[in-house]
Amino acid sequence: MRTIPDNERLKKRGSLLCIKNRTLIWRDVEGILLSCNNTKINCMERVYKNCQSCGMPMKRDEHGGGTHADGSKSAMYCSHCYEGGQFTVRNITVDDMKVRVRGKMKQIGFPGFVAGFFTRNLHKLERWKIHTMAVE
Ligand SMILES: [Zn+2]
Repeated sequence: MRTIPDNERLKKRGSLLCIKNRTLIWRDVEGILLSCNNTKINCMERVYKNCQSCGMPMKRDEHGGGTHADGSKSAMYCSHCYEGGQFTVRNITVDDMKVRVRGKMKQIGFPGFVAGFFTRNLHKLERWKIHTMAVE
């Protein structure tokens, strides 16, 4: 759990999901779940098996995940997608991402149909669930 400072800004930029036991739960623009209890904001980032941006298995990430702005590791996005609290590739649509990932996979020797199968469900990942266009 990380404590996030700039509360109001985050609240404005994210989307409120629900209110449970007087705790506000919302998702910020990066798709990270946050909860607010009184004045404390916690990051409830889930641990994912696959990068929630490109779908790469996290255990295949040589850096063990991307990094948040405070230098802590992301359990949600891989090091190729997320660095220093920002997506490395912004203004990208999920379809662009599919093309990118397919290209990368073919480059490293996967047959086209495997790459196609792998990228087919990319739009179901957390990054793309919130925005069809990731502008940040
Ligand atoms: Zn990724």
